[in-house]
Amino acid sequence: MLSRLFLLAVTVLGLCSVSAGQTTSAPPGAAPAGSVTLFQNVRIFDGKGHTLSGPMNVLVRGNVIERITAAAIAPQASDTVIEGGGRTLMPGLIDNHWHTMLVRPTPAQLLTGDVGYFNLLAGAEATATLMRGFTTVRDLGGPSFGLKQAIDEGLVAGPRIYPSGAIITITSGHGDFRQAFEVPRILGAPTSRQERLGASMVADSPDEVRVRVREQLMLGATQIKLTAGGGVASPNSPLDASTFTEAELRAAVEAAENWGTYVTVHAYTPTSIQRAIAAGVKVIEHGHLMDEATAQLMAQRGIWLSTQPFADEQADAFPPGSSERAKALKVFAGTDTVYTLARKYKLKTAFGTDVLFSERLAQRQGEFLATLVRWYTPAETLVMATGTNAELLALSGERNPYPGKLGVVEEGALADLLLVDGDPIANIKLIEDPAKNFVTIMKNGRIYKNLLR
Ligand SMILES: [Zn+2]
Repeated sequence: MLSRLFLLAVTVLGLCSVSAGQTTSAPPGAAPAGSVTLFQNVRIFDGKGHTLSGPMNVLVRGNVIERITAAAIAPQASDTVIEGGGRTLMPGLIDNHWHTMLVRPTPAQLLTGDVGYFNLLAGAEATATLMRGFTTVRDLGGPSFGLKQAIDEGLVAGPRIYPSGAIITITSGHGDFRQAFEVPRILGAPTSRQERLGASMVADSPDEVRVRVREQLMLGATQIKLTAGGGVASPNSPLDASTFTEAELRAAVEAAENWGTYVTVHAYTPTSIQRAIAAGVKVIEHGHLMDEATAQLMAQRGIWLSTQPFADEQADAFPPGSSERAKALKVFAGTDTVYTLARKYKLKTAFGTDVLFSERLAQRQGEFLATLVRWYTPAETLVMATGTNAELLALSGERNPYPGKLGVVEEGALADLLLVDGDPIANIKLIEDPAKNFVTIMKNGRIYKNLLR
């Protein structure tokens, strides 16, 4: 009887929450459904083309770009009008390799600190990220589900988040931050700090991989991240190591594809990249130590390269003389190689920064993007961080939490927009100082910053 009552209560509560959801007129964190913003006299960088448009007027209704026209649009009294004065309207920037939960705390804090504090820290960083003009991030590891929910509900200002949830790794792989005293682990008893936080999960067989992948999907992962090779920030993971077996990687790919999404892997070396591709992985993160043959294989198979223009200063996150710092410098030396190969073989290339453990470095997110002009034109650079990055996000398929077009300025697209004081194609350095040069920042139709008011 009690259990029946309980079931009834659950059913009623379930129905209540559904109907409450249906009465909401606009997605939380968005502009109210009827609200209208009119950008007058703007030149558009649309996220695809390499030139700015002539003077245009852009009408945003709710969270969607409704109309783009050279003809005048007469505003209603209740509309918000932004007189662009010939400034550039462009899509919000996208960082496709970001760690919302790991940007500010140091590794030592993460291993010992308070979880409530980490969440508040990540919330503050999310607001700072949005205010740098990054309206979407693809989170490549860390317990970001709660932060994403709070942002989507409008509790915290921050970017859209495509969460991977916990990084999935092997014993001693990249992302295994356990100490020697925590070995051996008892199979089936995930009690390490990193696992309790949801930062990374250790899996040492195809079956364990399946469990961990499905758990992240249950929590709302939009894609699955595995570490196929050694990494910089992990204490016991040599750079040359290939970590998962092909069978383990394939188990992850099957579980993700059964759920309508894909696996991306952290991999620097030719062996780890090639094994991941053989297992059906769709996206390679980093690739800094790759070779010609691997780049050719990626081109043939249409594999995405999601890579980063690492700056040597990023090694400052690690103490002088540490093995982590030495590994960082070795990887960073491959930055020129990876971009040269990406260009040579016309790889589908996405932009990200992968800033870790440093609020100060995160402040330079736009500056890191601008360093791509070493290999690309300013227009190509901006296309990569908007329209192209959005194409990669779309690989999440049915698991995409933000259906609609991102990364472009076109009618019908989601209204994530930046108004730039100047022409960023003529002067890419404008994106290095978002506080000054991004005069308006809109996400999902809602204005988060407007210096022209
Ligand atoms: Zn990363």
